[in-house]
Amino acid sequence: MIIDGKSVSLKILDNIKDEINNLNTKLTLCVIQIGNDEASNTYIKQKEKKCNELGINFKHIKFSENEEEITIENKILELNKDSDITGIIIQLPIPDKYNVNKLINLIDPNKDIDGLTNINRIKLINKDNPIVPCTPLGIIKLFESYNIDVKGKHVVIVGRSKLVSKPLFNLLLDRDATITMCHSKTNNLIDYTKNADILISATGKPHLIKENMVKENSIIIDVGISRVNDKLCGDVDFDNVKDKVSLITPVPGGVGPMTIAMIMNNMVEAYKKQKN
Ligand code: NDP
Repeated sequence: MIIDGKSVSLKILDNIKDEINNLNTKLTLCVIQIGNDEASNTYIKQKEKKCNELGINFKHIKFSENEEEITIENKILELNKDSDITGIIIQLPIPDKYNVNKLINLIDPNKDIDGLTNINRIKLINKDNPIVPCTPLGIIKLFESYNIDVKGKHVVIVGRSKLVSKPLFNLLLDRDATITMCHSKTNNLIDYTKNADILISATGKPHLIKENMVKENSIIIDVGISRVNDKLCGDVDFDNVKDKVSLITPVPGGVGPMTIAMIMNNMVEAYKKQKN
């Protein structure tokens, strides 16, 4: 069966819209872009569209790739102080010459919609009410809506990024999964993937996960997004894998819409934290 992330996300967004309507205030998301990465332009447009649908103000600040880092730092500090701004996202990736860690950690943790500041990371590890990164949170919500209990299951995560895989590790561990993390230096990836009750792939390597690498009746979550011959595809060889497993997310229409929904979810979370 195919996991329909699109329809789950729409239900969640309906609830978030109701919640926002009852807030009696206007939320504002500010996305900071540095440079002109083509994929970033698309992701920012998606965020803007969703904000418009939910009645959230959207502010896009675009710096050229020649901008002085100090100017960007000062803008972040200004946005932190601006009570009209609910949430701040630095659209990644940014050009290598900038200190991405420094810039991210200038964001007020209560406005850190992506949950990427050190403070939110530590809070996640300590289960101390963090803002949780959107893609991992979206995957947890998908599990919840399909009644997938990860307790005691062997979950294999392929990828070890700060954005997706590491926070996902914490969320799954807190839900009593047994987790193996693989990466590009893992020898014989197949030895791990074919023993996974739940396989989550977040590499951005198209069709890395083949039919012989998955266990029968397992659950497959494909986070990867790549463009091949002008078509979007995931890390998983979907057509050949789908009939062997019990549940699988498609690309597009799986994890992607959940990520966007969780950005909106985190806007409400951020608002509540600032109010308190
Ligand atoms: P990163 O590039 O930061 O991380 C990729 C990870 O995959 C690394 O840990 C890398 O290992 C590992 N990897 C690469 N090649 C292999 C391989 N052949 N075998 C095993 N592991 C490998 O990516 P992100 O985590 O940020 O994103 C991953 C993918 O998910 C991308 O396609 C991205 O576009 C997509 N994405 C999708 C989202 C959605 O909403 N659906 C949201 C965010 C990302 P190593 O550490 O050793 O280099």
